[in-house]
Amino acid sequence: MDLESFHRRSIEDRDGFWAEQAGLIEWHKPFGKVLDYSRPPFARWYVGGETNLCHNAVDRYLRTQPDAPALHFISTETGEERSYSFAQLHREVVRMAAIMRGLGVGRGDRVLLYMPMIPEAAFAMLACARLGAIHSVVFGGFASRSLASRIDDARPKLVVSADAGSRNGRVIAYKPLLDTAIGLAAHKPERVLMVDRGLAPFESVAGRDLGYAALREQHLGDDVPVTWLESNEISYTLYTSGTTGSPKGVQRDVGGYAVALAASMKYIFCGNPGETYFCTSDIGWVVGHSYIVYGPLIGGMATILYEGTPLRPDPGILWQLVERHRVSVMFSAPTAIRVLKKQDPSWLSRHDLSSLRTLFLAGEPLDEPTARWISEGLGRPVIDNYWQTETGWPILTVAHGVEKTPTRFGSPGKAMYGYDVRLLHEQTGEEVGTNEKGVVAIVPPLPPGCMQTIWGDDERFVRTYFTSIPGRQVYSTFDWGVRDPDGYYFILGRTDDVINVAGHRLGTREIEESLSSHQAVAECAVVGVADALKGQVAVAFAVLRDPAQAQDARAREALEGELMAVVDRQLGAVARPARVHFVGMLPKTRSGKVLRRAIQALSEGRDPGELTTIEDPAALEQVREALTG
Ligand code: AMP
Repeated sequence: MDLESFHRRSIEDRDGFWAEQAGLIEWHKPFGKVLDYSRPPFARWYVGGETNLCHNAVDRYLRTQPDAPALHFISTETGEERSYSFAQLHREVVRMAAIMRGLGVGRGDRVLLYMPMIPEAAFAMLACARLGAIHSVVFGGFASRSLASRIDDARPKLVVSADAGSRNGRVIAYKPLLDTAIGLAAHKPERVLMVDRGLAPFESVAGRDLGYAALREQHLGDDVPVTWLESNEISYTLYTSGTTGSPKGVQRDVGGYAVALAASMKYIFCGNPGETYFCTSDIGWVVGHSYIVYGPLIGGMATILYEGTPLRPDPGILWQLVERHRVSVMFSAPTAIRVLKKQDPSWLSRHDLSSLRTLFLAGEPLDEPTARWISEGLGRPVIDNYWQTETGWPILTVAHGVEKTPTRFGSPGKAMYGYDVRLLHEQTGEEVGTNEKGVVAIVPPLPPGCMQTIWGDDERFVRTYFTSIPGRQVYSTFDWGVRDPDGYYFILGRTDDVINVAGHRLGTREIEESLSSHQAVAECAVVGVADALKGQVAVAFAVLRDPAQAQDARAREALEGELMAVVDRQLGAVARPARVHFVGMLPKTRSGKVLRRAIQALSEGRDPGELTTIEDPAALEQVREALTG
């Protein structure tokens, strides 16, 4: 079938199409209704059906391929390597589930994971899924304040963490950050389960903290049956940044997510049971949820969990792993490839890559030179794919499992099945024409696998995503895009204040709030500025309470360092601005709105355009001077 007909059927015969895809996973009890859309924009998929993500990712393969590899863990940071077959993975997940059950965790309870890339993180996610507990993984690069706000929102019964992670040979202790976060949070988790890697000694809080290794010994032989869940029960929440300072808990279901992932493995990633999938992301991001843990395993593939960077011990490490584990499908981010592009290209040809069919890249715009360089260097197709934490799987890409549609440099591809994608005029809500810029929107219902709501806040879900386009209730991605006459989309950047640093999505407001917590700062603005390596970096402009504090270059430098350290401490190094400039005032409209787009334009050396609403044009001059000075 051609992609266009496939796509058309998914929209016009939604029930028929998705009922068919539901056969890609195993159900304990069949569903009654494919879609309940009686309360738009809330979509309920596979109503009444009972299934379980852990069953579909692990138990299911005990029958057909118990000894096939399921998980390869490689840490080039610590030198550890461990591999688990489906049967072994099953044992570890059941043990983890037994520990959690013993700590009183059950259906609907939240478990927050703050973990490095170690197998226990995957065990914990799958154990939650097994028990019907809701996991909330917080990226290990986030620091105490980010973590505290997520603890308060998720209100977990249990936190699972580890002594430390490691990056670029540097041990990053997690426990002190976690202890500080729990201190800051209003909600106190009852228990903290600690995986001790022996990297960073830590203090245990009596009565709260428990060691994983000892508990695992106690539960070695326990059996924990799968808890069958109604398809619309919650599998997990995952926090993501938006335009306000408070992160949103993107909430996902069970059945719809399992079907969406299984379908994407078949039609988009084209992976087969027994093969190996290598995704270089982190379990703290949605890509890690969908394509390190759940997707490949649901597809019966072995997945690689890699703690390390693309450059250590040498720039050939990713390809060495492809060769060693006979990887067929690989998934990475454009930034990782741009990092490699600075190295000797011969690193791409030193390993046997004959197993590799396709390299998928996502998370940020993929520029043509980078796509061309890696595709030619590997001699393999590179497939860009565009999606969001909210959707859980690709919105735009090509689906070679349906049709071998050619890719086009600079474009992530076409609308995927299930997504009724439109480009709409920001103000009128009308559809824009071919080659015209519009907001990338999706006519609801959103397909299976997409967010159900914002955790604990249905009203915010509707208000945030479904009211920004006037006159119609459509889902906004908050990305600009254009479509060419052949249906290929091109993404042109965000319509809101979200920035994308090396594929990491950050809210400028969160960074502004963090900087403003320093007593020297009166107010500040953070914008995303184009960067050749990371796509974008955050750049801050701060107004000081006492301008004398930025009197000379030395004072400015010291204060800039201090402010960066505040962000490091509160939010984590991922959010640290590349520069903090000091200005006497920020350019604002007469109604007091900071003109972030004008600041961004100046920071990128562009003309800020006509600014008729500006309160005081001298503020722009100050920004210009700060940038050149
Ligand atoms: P996240 O929710 O962290 O995955 O970030 C989603 C955002 O990243 C999207 O709204 C886009 O702005 C950007 N993004 C993700 N994938 C792509 C891609 N393939 N091309 C361009 N932008 C992308």
